[in-house]
Amino acid sequence: MPLNKSKGNMYEWVTHTWNPLAGECPHRCSYCSTNKLMRYPGIKSKYSGEPRLEEKELKTNLGADNFIFVAAQNDLFAEAIPADVIRRILAYCARFNNKYLFQTKNPKRLLEFQYELDLLDFSICTTIETNRHYTTQMRNCPLPKDRAHWMNEIVHEFRWGFPNNRTYVTIEPIMDFDLDELNFLIETCLACQVNIGADSGNNNLPEPSKEKVIDLIQRLEAHTKVKVKDNLKRIIGPP
Ligand code: SF4
Repeated sequence: MPLNKSKGNMYEWVTHTWNPLAGECPHRCSYCSTNKLMRYPGIKSKYSGEPRLEEKELKTNLGADNFIFVAAQNDLFAEAIPADVIRRILAYCARFNNKYLFQTKNPKRLLEFQYELDLLDFSICTTIETNRHYTTQMRNCPLPKDRAHWMNEIVHEFRWGFPNNRTYVTIEPIMDFDLDELNFLIETCLACQVNIGADSGNNNLPEPSKEKVIDLIQRLEAHTKVKVKDNLKRIIGPP
C-alpha cells in the first residue's frame, strides 16, 4: 500500500498517513471514524479481529522529509497491542528520514518504548474530548485524567526530556464537560497546541452548549495555542 496523502483535517503539517496496524482498535469508541468505513469490504477485513501487523505495509516506501501520522485508524499504543508489533513498526519508521505523529489515548505506553522512540523525530498527541468518562461512548479508553497525567509524565520523565513544543491535545469530538476540570486536564498535558472540534459523524454524542465551549476556548487561550476546527461552528456558530 502506498502512503496516503493527508487531507489536512487535523494538523496542516501532517503530509501523509500510514496504517501498518490492522485489527479492531481495543478502545472501541462509539464515534470512531473507522466505524463509518466498515461498509467497504477491504476496510472491514483490515480493521476486524485481533490487533496485528499488516506485514505488507513494511514494504511501503515512507520516503523522506514527510510528516507521517502513523496508525491513523487505530491506536498504536493501546494496552492490547502486542509489544513486538509496536517495536517492528517503530523500527521501520526509523529506516526513513521523516517526522512522525503518534496519537494515542494511552500515552502511558510510550514510556515502554523509549529506546525505539529515541531513534525517531516525532510528536505526540492525545485526545481529551471531555473530562468525564461517558462509558457508552468511550468504552475501553483510559480515563481522561489518566491521559493527562501521562502526557505530563512524558514531558518530565522521558529519559532525554521531551520538548513540549512537540506535544498536542485534540478535544474532538467535544463532549459535555465541567469547565474547571477540563481546563485543568488540558493544562496538565503541557501541550503546545490544542485542536478543538465537534462530532461530524452524527454520533448522537452528549454535547456542551455554545456558551460553555466559548468559555472553554477563552480559558485555554490563557495557557496554550488553540485551533478551532471548522466543524465546531455547528455548536458555536460563525466567528
Ligand atoms: S481510540 Fe481512536 S482509533 Fe481507537 S476506537 Fe477510539 S477513535 Fe477509534
